[in-house]
Amino acid sequence: MYMDPQTVQPDIGSQPQASGVAGAPQNDVEVAPNGNLYDVIIIGGGPAAVASAVYTARKQLKTLVIAEAFGGQSVVSDDIQNWIGDKHISGVDLAQKLEAHVREYTEIVEIKNEKAVLVISIRCTTGEERICDFEVKTDKQTYQGKTVIVASGARRRKLGIPGEDKFEGKGVAYCSTCDAPLFKDKKVVVVGGGNAGLEAVQDLFQYASEIYLIEHGEVIRGDAETLGKIKSDPKLKEIILNADILEVVGDAMVTGLKYKKRQSNEEKVLEVGGIFVEIGSVPNSEMVKDLVQIDEHGQIIINFQHARTSHPGVFAAGDVTNDPYKQNNISVGDGVRAALAAQAYLLDREKHSPASEKP
Ligand SMILES: Cc1cc2nc3c(=O)[nH]c(=O)nc-3n(C[C@H](O)[C@H](O)[C@H](O)COP(=O)(O)OP(=O)(O)OC[C@H]3O[C@@H](n4cnc5c(N)ncnc54)[C@H](O)[C@@H]3O)c2cc1C
Repeated sequence: MYMDPQTVQPDIGSQPQASGVAGAPQNDVEVAPNGNLYDVIIIGGGPAAVASAVYTARKQLKTLVIAEAFGGQSVVSDDIQNWIGDKHISGVDLAQKLEAHVREYTEIVEIKNEKAVLVISIRCTTGEERICDFEVKTDKQTYQGKTVIVASGARRRKLGIPGEDKFEGKGVAYCSTCDAPLFKDKKVVVVGGGNAGLEAVQDLFQYASEIYLIEHGEVIRGDAETLGKIKSDPKLKEIILNADILEVVGDAMVTGLKYKKRQSNEEKVLEVGGIFVEIGSVPNSEMVKDLVQIDEHGQIIINFQHARTSHPGVFAAGDVTNDPYKQNNISVGDGVRAALAAQAYLLDREKHSPASEKP
């Protein structure tokens, strides 16, 4: 592994986690049986993962990127207006640019279009501070690495009610930016009164004939100014609060949404041709849930200064973490930070664990 002295962080060794190797390890760390031990395994194909990969590649770290797809969540956007450096870019173009960038480095970065399902630590030392290698199992194979960067982002949260899966794409939608034009002159309901829900209502104003907003809680939690704006549009027919969402009903396509008014216990069917579900996202952290600390929302808890998780050698970046700001540009910065932190960790690990480098 090439080491660029310029990149060595001045405070290496004084940081609790990176200096998890402060004392020499008690047990040797064996090499992977197949000899194919990556320096860094990156899980994901969005802005965070690509940024990590570009940086690990440029540090000459042997990198494996495991990505189900490239581009990330905003691939569905027609027009991203805050990607720094491009006043307008479609999600598809951004995805292509991201993939092209990481493919510039295929001499040092391997790319596998697979789904990572489990990450475990292996060959851990038994010293005061543990050094481990990691095994990443995908839907197809198993890979081994000295560090892992989890940048697997998030996916849209579903309602989990009868009919939802059956009518997905047949009236049930999760992205107003992408699908609003398909609901021209239709009655639609937006489920969820957070900012995403309010923005979905705004997106739908140009297309739908009537819009309803339904919320499980007692209040609309989204931005008060946006709420004020949407309330003043005559296309917004009703805001329904305190509703338990029960079932998507339909025949070939969606015809309605069944819900219960919690205060009166009365069940009703809202007759609509479209249902936009805007109830947040779920972090794709399942593959490390037994390895690192996860918060109550399923987000990987990181140290914001060094992108470290609770397990030395495992780093995380982007929307899968507990960073409160979920944005493309932030994910890129997070990815860079994780890559540099992984490199610093590897340098420190080499200093303290020559055994890990045995052929
Ligand atoms: C509709 C929509 C529009 C948005 N518009 C904007 C915008 O205009 N501006 C902005 O700044 N932000 C926007 N965002 C937010 C932005 O998309 C996210 O903050 C950003 O994509 C997060 O990047 P990420 O790399 O952390 O994760 P993600 O973008 O979620 O990428 C995760 C990647 O990992 C892959 N992956 C997931 N699980 C696995 C696995 N188990 N194994 C292998 N690969 C896996 C996925 O295929 C995906 O490629 C938008 C989000 C949405 C949903």
